[in-house]
Amino acid sequence: MFKTKEEFKYEFSKRIIETYGRTVEESHITEKFMILENMVRDYASVNWAMTKMSVQQHEQKQVHYFSMEFLMGRLLVNNMMNLGIYDIAKEGLADYGINIHELEELESDAGLGNGGLGRLAACFMDSLASLSYPAFGHTIRYTYGFFEQKIEDGYQVEVPDQWLRLGNAWEVRKPKHQCDVKFFGHVVWNGDKQKWEHVDAELVRAVPYDVPIVGADTKVTNTLRLWKSEPADDIPRNKDFRQYTQEVNDITQTLYPDDSTPAGKMLRLKQQYFFVAAGLNSIVRAHLRVYPDLHNFADKNVIQLNDTHPVLVIPELMRILIDDYEFEWDEAWDIVTHTCAYTNHTILAEALEKWPIEMMKNLLPRIYQIIEEIHRRFIGYVKIASNGDEQLLNRVMILRDGQVHMARLAIAGSFSVNGVAALHTDILKNREMQDFDRIFPGKFNNKTNGVTHRRWLAYCNPQLADLLHEAIGDSWIKHPDDLEKLKKFADDSIIRSKFLNVKYQRKEDLARYIKEHNGIEVDVNSIFDIQVKRLHAYKRQLLNIMHVIYLYQRMKEDPSFRIYPHTYIFGAKAAPSYYFAKKVIKLINAVADVVNNDPVTNQYLKVVFIENYGVTIAEHIIPAADVSEQISTAGKEASGTSNMKFMMNGAVTLGTLDGANVEIAERVGDENCVIFGMKVEDINKLKADNSYHAWDYYNNDFRIKKVVDSLTDGTFASSREEFKLIFDELMSHNDEYYLLADFDSYVKAQEKINELYKDRDNWAKMCIMNIAMSGYFSSDRTIEDYVKDIWHLERVANK
Ligand SMILES: *Cc1c(COP(=O)(O)O)cnc(C)c1O
Repeated sequence: MFKTKEEFKYEFSKRIIETYGRTVEESHITEKFMILENMVRDYASVNWAMTKMSVQQHEQKQVHYFSMEFLMGRLLVNNMMNLGIYDIAKEGLADYGINIHELEELESDAGLGNGGLGRLAACFMDSLASLSYPAFGHTIRYTYGFFEQKIEDGYQVEVPDQWLRLGNAWEVRKPKHQCDVKFFGHVVWNGDKQKWEHVDAELVRAVPYDVPIVGADTKVTNTLRLWKSEPADDIPRNKDFRQYTQEVNDITQTLYPDDSTPAGKMLRLKQQYFFVAAGLNSIVRAHLRVYPDLHNFADKNVIQLNDTHPVLVIPELMRILIDDYEFEWDEAWDIVTHTCAYTNHTILAEALEKWPIEMMKNLLPRIYQIIEEIHRRFIGYVKIASNGDEQLLNRVMILRDGQVHMARLAIAGSFSVNGVAALHTDILKNREMQDFDRIFPGKFNNKTNGVTHRRWLAYCNPQLADLLHEAIGDSWIKHPDDLEKLKKFADDSIIRSKFLNVKYQRKEDLARYIKEHNGIEVDVNSIFDIQVKRLHAYKRQLLNIMHVIYLYQRMKEDPSFRIYPHTYIFGAKAAPSYYFAKKVIKLINAVADVVNNDPVTNQYLKVVFIENYGVTIAEHIIPAADVSEQISTAGKEASGTSNMKFMMNGAVTLGTLDGANVEIAERVGDENCVIFGMKVEDINKLKADNSYHAWDYYNNDFRIKKVVDSLTDGTFASSREEFKLIFDELMSHNDEYYLLADFDSYVKAQEKINELYKDRDNWAKMCIMNIAMSGYFSSDRTIEDYVKDIWHLERVANK
């Protein structure tokens, strides 16, 4: 493999000639791009093979991260950087007159996820490899990733995401690891063999595509295994083959574009079982290539379930052990409950996954039968543990009211249940899941989320990384806690002004992007106040835009009232069927239209909606932020991770005490963030005494009345019906997410930002303190916590 620029150039030109029969100069840009990707993959593949061998030889325990979503983004730059070959490639290409950035732009995002949960899985894979831990990711190879969002006339329009258009150079199809997954049919008792058999099943072939996960500054390269559905050799007799083919293709065709609500569709359940069964099959076979049997399975494998979507791992592993390898129930249960660990991601009641028993029974008859038995035994256990408390029993039953409660199954079948931020875990233990915490003392634990500081700081913000190198060296890349060395520069006026300069450059970049994509001219000296995340009522983008409306109305009314110039930037995809969320997008765009074109106010106030928010766009947006909007209703955002990305890039958090914001505020101190709004206890109290009345806020605060009235008086739409849904949500449905209750406090928090920003020198200090304290939020720290408390892995011995 190439070690120098000259070797790189030789190899690059040789491959172009061999593959396309042309010289570098004559080749098309997509050809150059694909050759570069292939070179990087091949560069990684030696380490990849060595890692697999080393793990086997040393009989090491591995973690298997099962997740329906991996929001990977682009891999080319990340992999070159992690391999330490970026500069060689960049300079080699430059010698050929090729700008590496132009090649980078040709890569599609691997958008196999919706948002935070999928991006967490991606950050974890990066940290696991970079810390040299042996790890496998399992997911679905969706033909179409998360939909592409277009904004037409202010409305969201969804377009299929054809991420495989140019092929996917990173994946390797592995037919030797394929297997068949069984659906439908029924279960019969075989008296001769004394066991249950699943007969008349419909088979679906599962074929894995492996993607190397390249660690930074290590030879360890792990695997992300993507499962694709294909027709099996044995096709069902009773079905037209075209219908069968169609149904098979459907399984891995599209990612469900839902976030925090379970999609109640048979196809989704099929997807879940499909990748769970295929993944487990491959793990079991790999285990048996190294060890004589499955008795030591739990010593060598730990399976982390990312939310309830892969929880069928629990009954499926039971099925394999009992049906295929003749284990007794108790022995099998012992293995399963020492192998599986579950991460809870939400306390939103509507997001707790449940499946109709009838559907489960029909699609997965043997799995359902096993769940029934797990349920029966669990009930027996709880009865004893609870001294026959009937009500408690009803609250924890896995099967209840014709449904399978997946979170309950997950808790019963796992040795660890973790929340994703301290506050979230507290709420789980003390409220939402306190029954389970009592039944299984010690099972619940916290693992505060993190993000990879390589992608989200070092690679996406090279200007800031250079400044950090200059000030504190580069040990923070290996040891993110070393960012704290920056604290002593927080008062250094040279570092402060250099920081402001970096921020200015990144704001210029984003301003250029906005000019190009939105046609809006924004003031680089204005405060870039940014809220980018999935669109959801609880995240309260509506509160943000209502505040913008308030500012606009007040400036129009009172010529003496002027704010420090602000650019409010939004980015968010709404689930296609989430009507309210789509209306909020339309409202943001409608407000932008009015505000941006009003000469009275537009030197003070601009609103920008950036379309198609995703990982790559996030890497451009986040480094340009002055203010990070994290304004969810307290108790609703389990952790949040964009709050951490903003912090690392020197933005000040404007947030509620929710999710990981609590821990961010704790670390940076009150003087380096702006916290507002009700706390979880305040909201619980309002709920408990039923004392929240949205109309009281409307009637008693003229600012609120004016803003709310503007939704239906034609200010932002020609039709008064356009935003009626939003009006109703606030007023007729009593404002479920307490926007009006937090409005005044939010206005004051925004005013405080204005004041703080005017003192540029102190502002720089605040930002520097945020960067300095962000090391804790590296997913390297999160992974070390999982390893120490849950996974108990050893590093790969790689020489
Ligand atoms: C980090 C990230 C998220 C999660 O954002 P939150 O604000 O924590 O909800 C969602 N989407 C993308 C593309 C991300 O990079």
